[in-house]
Amino acid sequence: MEKQHFHNSEAHLDGPLFGNALEILIESAKLINCDPNVLERLKKPRRCITVSIPVRMDDYTVRVFTGYRVQYNATLGPFKGGIRYHQNVDLPEVVGLAALMTFKNSVLGLPLGGAKGGVCVDPSKISRTEKQNLTRRYASEISHFIGPTKDIPAPDVGTDPQTMAWMMDTYSQEQGGYSQPGVVTGKPVEIGGTAGRNHATGLGVVFVAEKAYEKCKMEMSGSTIVVQGFGNVGSFAALFAHQRGAKIIAVSDVSGGIYNGEGFDIPDVIEYVKTHKQVKGYPKSSPITNEELLELPCDALFPCALEGQIDTHNAEKIKAKIIVEGANGPVSNAATRILHKRGIFIAPDVIANGGGVIVSYFEWVQDIMSFFWDEDEINDRLKTIITKAFDKGWAVHQEKNVDMRSAAMAVAVQRLEKAMLLRGLYPR
Ligand code: NAD
Repeated sequence: MEKQHFHNSEAHLDGPLFGNALEILIESAKLINCDPNVLERLKKPRRCITVSIPVRMDDYTVRVFTGYRVQYNATLGPFKGGIRYHQNVDLPEVVGLAALMTFKNSVLGLPLGGAKGGVCVDPSKISRTEKQNLTRRYASEISHFIGPTKDIPAPDVGTDPQTMAWMMDTYSQEQGGYSQPGVVTGKPVEIGGTAGRNHATGLGVVFVAEKAYEKCKMEMSGSTIVVQGFGNVGSFAALFAHQRGAKIIAVSDVSGGIYNGEGFDIPDVIEYVKTHKQVKGYPKSSPITNEELLELPCDALFPCALEGQIDTHNAEKIKAKIIVEGANGPVSNAATRILHKRGIFIAPDVIANGGGVIVSYFEWVQDIMSFFWDEDEINDRLKTIITKAFDKGWAVHQEKNVDMRSAAMAVAVQRLEKAMLLRGLYPR
């Protein structure tokens, strides 16, 4: 990975994701003549919580895991952001993801601030009981800081609706035993989850891809698409694009990738993964590495795995015409500049994967009202919000002649700036 330029004086927070976010923040602040005092405040997280999580393992030994919750900015509303379980989670990564959530919620026009959480653990190496024990203790440790009006976690890599159910139950037990469904989103529907949340991010990726195709004067039907990552985001993005007539010629996960130039029957690949837990070995496909997959000739590439996938080492080799960032931070700033110069259109993460938090927002609203909408209504409202954010970013992209990432960030920073100036600085 290339050397990053960090603008943060606090070295313990430095990481590639946060470095990229700060760099783009500073550039876009210049674009909109942002108040320097506001910019200074936006460069720092409001609060970083680190907790030790002792867990009784199945063999009765106790292991102590480290967890984080970073509350970056709450100017626009309660903190909001997912929780990641992954062996590489550390504070700088969580800070970077929390900053991204702040700008994402702002550009999407949601009444929410930005946060992110994570636990350094490989979820594939612990049992279900151990995962439940870990989740409940983590929820308990951060319970003073979260709540339906304070900070509302959601799933991310390595966590799912069941994890959210355990978090909601733990919080509710500790707050007097009354159900508090609004404390987390991404819950199962039986306990206050919303229709349409599970596929929301993937559907949003495809709504944004459709806009990008339209702007690039291309058609999704019959086009070729490559998807990296076949989890929640990647598998649904592949499915919705497949349903729109696109040929998904390659998909991958951490085990590696598979290729078929004729296009995959995505519902069948999803069924295969349910039983085999990986895409590798799928019949009628040739194996391909994740590195090779990113460099395949195709109309659109959806990176839907993890951050830092496209960097200066491979940006020149990317052959897609459009990149839609399903993952958070898959393309570095330096790579964005190279790709932009090469005429490759990037729909940035803060808009492209906004479907998850948009429908999480709907879930939170429905929990507060105790009144639930049907899936068509959810999908329609999702499309309206995500398309509007794309159009706002596109207008700045055209007017200022900058890439879509800088444009989206400029929209986000401008909204935050207005709100921060209106609220002022406490105490003065
Ligand atoms: P997930 O855990 O469901 O899936 C992740 C997928 O990526 C899996 O298929 C995994 O095998 C694969 N993967 C992991 N490491 C990889 C590697 N090194 N190379 C290739 N593939 C790899 O996670 P998810 O919820 O789909 O999230 C994926 C990305 O999307 C993350 O960056 C996350 O922050 C972002 N995101 C998720 C949501 C959401 O609603 N789930 C919303 C917004 C953004």
